[in-house]
Amino acid sequence: MRFDGKIVLITGGARGIGRATAHAFAREGATVVLAGRDAAALAEAVKEIGSERADHVVADVTDPASAAAMVETVAGRHGALHVAVNNAGILGAAGPVADIDTAAWDEVLAVNLTGVFLSMKHEIAHMRAHGGGAVVNVSSNIGAHGRRPGLAAYAASKAAVSVLTRTAALDHVADGVRVNAVSPGATDTPMSLLPGETPAERAERMRATPSGRVADTAEVAETILWLASDAASHVVGHDLVVDGGVTA
Ligand code: NAP
Repeated sequence: MRFDGKIVLITGGARGIGRATAHAFAREGATVVLAGRDAAALAEAVKEIGSERADHVVADVTDPASAAAMVETVAGRHGALHVAVNNAGILGAAGPVADIDTAAWDEVLAVNLTGVFLSMKHEIAHMRAHGGGAVVNVSSNIGAHGRRPGLAAYAASKAAVSVLTRTAALDHVADGVRVNAVSPGATDTPMSLLPGETPAERAERMRATPSGRVADTAEVAETILWLASDAASHVVGHDLVVDGGVTA
């Protein structure tokens, strides 16, 4: 198994892409620690995976003390941190730039960008001191790769995550820490539904895209596992798009 004995931290691990990624790592032998703000949702996800393979830590990645405590808790309870998946994110602040509420803008940047920075800061510091590791940040095909009207805050935050990933990769490759990103397109979670849209309506909208469909969360998870695995041992600072050809 690819991750036998490895300790894997996944922010936003209770739902969606994070939860599918947790299942995939656990199936490959890892112990997964799911982080997020909702203790009940995290506990339910841990139960689903099995408590012998999963654990959770309540953390808000926008809070510097909470992000630090998240990494300390993982290392303290499990004795190591080998892989970190910084997946927590929100869409938020929709609408044209002139109408974006300033507080909503701040929240998107706080979760999507500062949250990834704070998580990486502590994860990498731990990995650097303990023989290295791998970090995968979850960005988006909206940002560095493509843009859509009405999503300026989200696009700006994710473009920044893509650049932050590359810079962190350069900063820490010599420390034995590989940092990469995955940039999904529309994936089968509520985040890919337009306001008021049903999954059936989304399926109809997606028919006009090159692949004709949304991604399954397992398809994004598999890409994350590959980037975190030894199979990608010389892949550094890459931002792998998984969008069925939308931004090809
Ligand atoms: P989701 O189902 O809404 O899950 C988002 C997760 O982030 C939740 O578990 C949430 O947990 C966590 N989270 C939000 N704010 C947090 C905070 N301040 N601290 C800690 N955790 C926080 O979304 P998803 O669709 O799986 O998206 C996962 C990632 O993929 C996001 O970064 C998203 O931008 C990216 N992505 C998604 C799509 C898509 O179509 N679904 C496409 C491209 C990129 P709590 O609420 O419990 O804290």
